[in-house]
Formats: sequence, C-alpha cells, structure tokens
Amino acid sequence: MSFDTIVVVDWSARGAPSPAKPSKDSIWIGIARGGTVETAYHRTRHAAMQALASLFEAERMAGRRVLAGFDFPFAYPAGFGRAVTGSDDPLALWADLAARITDGPDNANNRFEVAQDLNRLFPGIGPFWGRPDALDLPDLPARGTLRDLDRFPERRRCDTLAPGAQPCWKLYTTGSVGSQALLGLPRLQALRARFGADLSVRPFEQADTPITLVELFPSLIAKTVAALAEPDEIKDRAQVRVLAGALAALPGPQLEAMTREGDPVEGWILGLGHEAALEAAARGPALTPPRLRDDCFAMPQGVDWVPVDTALARLRETLRPVTGVATLSVAQAAGRVLAEAPVARRANPPRPNSAVDGYGFAHAATGPGVMRLPLVDGRAAAGQPHDAPVPPGHAIRILTGAVLPEGVDTVVLEEDTASDGRVVAFDGPVKPFANARKAGEDMEAGATILQAGHVLRPPDLALLSALGVAEARVFHPLRVAVLSTGDEIVPAPDRPAQPHQIWDANRPMLLALAQGWGHVPVDLGHVGDDPRAIGAALDRGAAEADVILTSGGASAGDEDHVSALLGARGTLSAWRIALKPGRPLALALWDGVPVFGLPGNPVAALVCALIFARPALSLMSGAGWVQPQGFTVPAAFSKSKKPGRREYLRARLTAEGAAEVFASEGSGRISGLSWATGLVELPDTALQVTPGTPVRFLPYSGFGMG
Ligand code: AMP
Ligand code: MG
Repeated sequence: MSFDTIVVVDWSARGAPSPAKPSKDSIWIGIARGGTVETAYHRTRHAAMQALASLFEAERMAGRRVLAGFDFPFAYPAGFGRAVTGSDDPLALWADLAARITDGPDNANNRFEVAQDLNRLFPGIGPFWGRPDALDLPDLPARGTLRDLDRFPERRRCDTLAPGAQPCWKLYTTGSVGSQALLGLPRLQALRARFGADLSVRPFEQADTPITLVELFPSLIAKTVAALAEPDEIKDRAQVRVLAGALAALPGPQLEAMTREGDPVEGWILGLGHEAALEAAARGPALTPPRLRDDCFAMPQGVDWVPVDTALARLRETLRPVTGVATLSVAQAAGRVLAEAPVARRANPPRPNSAVDGYGFAHAATGPGVMRLPLVDGRAAAGQPHDAPVPPGHAIRILTGAVLPEGVDTVVLEEDTASDGRVVAFDGPVKPFANARKAGEDMEAGATILQAGHVLRPPDLALLSALGVAEARVFHPLRVAVLSTGDEIVPAPDRPAQPHQIWDANRPMLLALAQGWGHVPVDLGHVGDDPRAIGAALDRGAAEADVILTSGGASAGDEDHVSALLGARGTLSAWRIALKPGRPLALALWDGVPVFGLPGNPVAALVCALIFARPALSLMSGAGWVQPQGFTVPAAFSKSKKPGRREYLRARLTAEGAAEVFASEGSGRISGLSWATGLVELPDTALQVTPGTPVRFLPYSGFGMG
C-alpha cells in the first residue's frame, strides 16, 4: 500500500484570524499529488478544517489514499494521558480534549482555561504553563520555572531526538507547540468522528485506511527547506511545500513503513531517524522532470560530417525542460518561463467604461444637429461608480476609466461640448458607442492569457495583474555551468601570463551569454589538461547546475582531455558538424547532466554557442526551441564558397545596409568578434558571392545578445 496524496499542515494557535494577505505563523497546507505540489493559506482553523475535510472527502471518493501530517504533538509524555483519562490510549485523550476545547470560526478559544483546568487535576503547579500577562488564571503559571517539575517528563522521547522540538506543556511565546496541540487534537478528533473507519492515526492505529494521520516536524529538514525556498517565500509555505514534495518522492513502501514506527503511548514524529532520506527525496528527481536518457546524444553511425540542420534537429528532438516548477507571485516572476498557461480570472475591462473625460448618455436618444441634454446630478469617475440609472435623453458627467452607469452607452469628448453644469450641448450625430470601452474587449474571463513556455517580460506582468492573476507557475531558472580547460590558459587577466600562456577569453563570454539568455551562470573556473581536475570540475558542475558548457580540449587529438574523459566516464558523442568555424562538438551526459563541449578557439566557441547552445539551453529552460532572427541583405564582399560546410562570417552592415565581412576569416582573430554586429550565414552548398549577392545576415541581437 502506498499513498497517492500527501498533505502537510503547518498549524497555528492564533486567537484571531490571520491577516488576509498570506503571512507567516498562519495555517499553511501543502498538497503533493501526481508529481506536483500546491500550497494553500488559511486564515482560521475552521476554514482550514473545512478545506481538509472536503479534500479528504474528494480523495476518498476518487479512491486515492491520503497521508496527512500535522506539525503538533499527537500525544503527551507517558503518564499524562492515563492521569487524565484513566487510559494510556492517546486517542482517549483526544476525545477528552475535544470535549473541553471550544474554538470559534474566528479562532476565539478557551485553551488557557482548559490548560488551567487540567493543571487543577494535579497537586502542585503545572504541568502546563505560559499565558498572556493580562489573563488572570491562578493555576496556569506564566513561566515554566514556577512549576513543580517532577510529575511528568518535560519531553517525549521523540522530542528529545528532534533538535529544536519544544515541550508540549508550553502554551505561550515562540514555539508554543502546547497551544497548537490543545487546539489541534480536538480538530483531528472531529475528523476521526467524521471519517470513522476510513481514517486511522499512526502509530496508534495500524489499519490500512483511505485516510491516515501522522505527526510531522518540518524542522527535521530545516536546512533543505531553506535551500529549496523560493526567493522571498514565506518560511511556513516553503516548509509545507518542500516536506510534502519530499514525502511524495519517497518510495511508497518506505513511507508506509515509516508511518508505523514509534511509540504507542507517546507517539512519534514521522521521519525521525530518516532525515537524510527525506532530504534526498526533497531535492530528488520527483520534484524535477525525469532526466535525459543516456543515449540521447547518439548520432547515427557512419555519418561523417553532420549538416548543421541535422544536428539542430537532433538536439531539438532529444532535449526537454530539465528544471522543476514553482509557484511565484507575479510581481517576482519577471524573466521566468511560464510552466503553465495562466487564465484570466475576469474580463478586462470587467465592465464597460469610458475612454475619455466627457459626458455619457444613451445613443438612441440622440440625433443630428445640435443636441442639448439635461445633466443628472452627480458624476461617474474611476473608482467612484454612479449607481443610479441615467434616463434616456439625459447625460452624465463622466471621467476616464469610470464604469458606464446604467442607461449610458456612448460618451462625447469634453472638448467637443459646452456645459453650464445643468445642460450639456454638442453637435450630433455622434457615433454609437463612441469613446466607450466594451466589457471584455481586451480579454474575456477564462481566456488563456499567455502560453506555457513564454518568458515573462515587464508588460506581461501588467497583463497578468490586470486580469487578476496573482501567482504564476514558472520553471526554476536553468543553471548553466561554464568550465575552461587547457594547460596554456591563465584563468583571468589580473594574473601574469608567460609568453606561452593565454588569458581565458571564453569563460567570461559564455557566462555573460548564459546570463543574458535569462539563465543562472555558474562559474566552474579553469582547470588544466588533467583528467582528474576536469572530472572534479564536471562533478561540481553536475551537482550545482542543470547543464555544463566547457571550452577547449573537445577534439579528438592527444591533448583533448575533455573528450577523452567524457568518453571514458560519461556518454560521449562527438558530433563532427559540417560547420565553419567550429570543429567537433562533444556532447555527453555527466551524471545525467548534459555537457556541451565547445571548441577552445573563441571565434568557434562563440559561433557554436550561438548556433547550438542557445536553442538547446532555451529548450531545457522550458522556453522552447528558438531560431535566430535574421534578414536578407546584399553582400558588400566577394567570396567563392566551396560546398560541404555551412559558414558563419563575422559581419556588420554598411551605411547602405549591405553586409561587409571581417578582413580575415582566421579563427584566431578575436577582434573580429567585437568588430562585427552579427554573422553572415552562407549555405551548405557552393556559392559565388559578389557585391550585391543576397546573403542572410543574423544580427547579434537576433541571438538574444545585446
Ligand atoms: P583546443 O580546443 O583545446 O584545441 O583549443 C583550440 C584553441 O583555442 C587553442 O589555441 C587554445 O589555446 C585556445 N583556447 C582554448 N581555450 C581557450 C580559452 N578559454 N580562451 C582563449 N583561448 C582558448
Ligand atoms: Mg587545449
């Protein structure tokens, strides 16, 4: 048996509703189902329980098994339950507490009074403590040190094993889990009553039921939660989201076995002792799409030189999005790639409104010639609707953005009128519906606003906000690691270089390209031609990034250590692409992470990055395949091009709009890259170019390079 739906509840003992705006220290629920995790925020325990009960009901009807965890203790230190109920069964105490606690729909509750009543069952002071100073409850001490401490243990055994777990006697100030239990257990008892034999509480009950409740403690994986939190995400939300995802990612039998662990009297915190497995599951593949197949870069054997278009088609077929999906507030989503298409929550505009400042009326009551319409009292302005209807033949003062009052369908521009405040005069005829915006003329409610894969730009944030969309499902940004290799390379120009050494030119270029394309650059630095050092750098890249770009050592020569290593330890496929400049492209998976081995020569490295890496990275980021934008211009040069290879020449446009090319085609001439403003693409076939021959010019900007 395993669970189909995982629910993680971060509970709250607040005495009043939480703020309307999602905030911390409130009730957050994470729901992991079918490979995705959703979160919900609730202002009151009442609202949260209603949502949970309907979720459980729906899952039960659908035949899906639910595991629901709550972050408060399900039992008290041994001896307490027996002292109160006469039984060691913690569920007897749940029933007892349910009879004592009142907890209103507005969170108003009597937990401090109940704690005092419980304290009164015992001689001496305690065990419960903590209350607001203003509450006059003589048998509930304000501080823990005022208690007689020998009656019950301060913590359960499982609490002593969980760093940071608070004692359940503490009702007030930070981490007052005692209040959460007093207000939580009666709510769970209500679920037990409602779902009867379909619900069990582990580890006290062992039956396999459609709904299973367990105790959780998100701080068990606090570090991982912090590492996986989205920018500015509320901690409670991150906790339920990450923990729900982690539990869902554990193998079913392992999770099932974990729910059965623990003590029948004191209960247990699910996952205690399995923190490493939980953390691995939280970071693991269940939260991200499946990785690429080992043979994904294989090229059909026997192909000697692969045409550029074949290589591109192969990448396009093979690659897919490799990052996980998150929910972000629209305000924070600029630059991110939509993973799901957002839908308009209502029409824009929601109601017909005025496009200008002027006077509104029903068109039917107007005609040609000078019109004089009596004005009704009041006016309609943006944010200040005029509620009374405007009778036919009357007009109303109306301002831009104001909802058209009933009886108004047409607006005449203020500048075209004269008015004494009682009558408005203007020349007819006026076009029907003039200056009036129709409801939904921009977008209808329920319409798809933007497609999945769209990269959100500032105007898209305006559109989403205007249509009431507060959050968007977006891909995590693609992390692109960049590594330079070669014994001759000095990592940065602030270090001295011997005459036989050269400064690393490729790495700053490739990192900046990745960043400009909206990815997260990860600098792996430089390593010499040493297989162990290259291997260690690739290991780091595979751990910290979603894709790795290397430059240098990618051919098949003696010193081409990157391809040698990828061949030995990765799944190398050396693509001999019929392209100039740019010799083989080494493609491989290293620990499941794709590696693009680019040529070392900066001219070839840039061309290969623009032509191959750019669309490949875009696809992996979720934004889909991209093609460079270009246009045809007359050549301002002559060249006799041989057949067999596609060529990219460093080029720029003359004042007349013709393409001139850099004086030297030598691939060592880095200055030509900066001289150019784009590339001229010459076809695979032979071509005789003379001034005026149409050629294709691909500006740098068309490669997303500013
Ligand atoms: P390779 O691909 O290792 O055979 O290198 C081809 C050429 O590119 C050699 O002349 C290298 O010195 C040069 N090269 C390799 N990596 C870089 C780099 N990061 N920056 C500048 N030049 C490089
Ligand atoms: Mg080299």
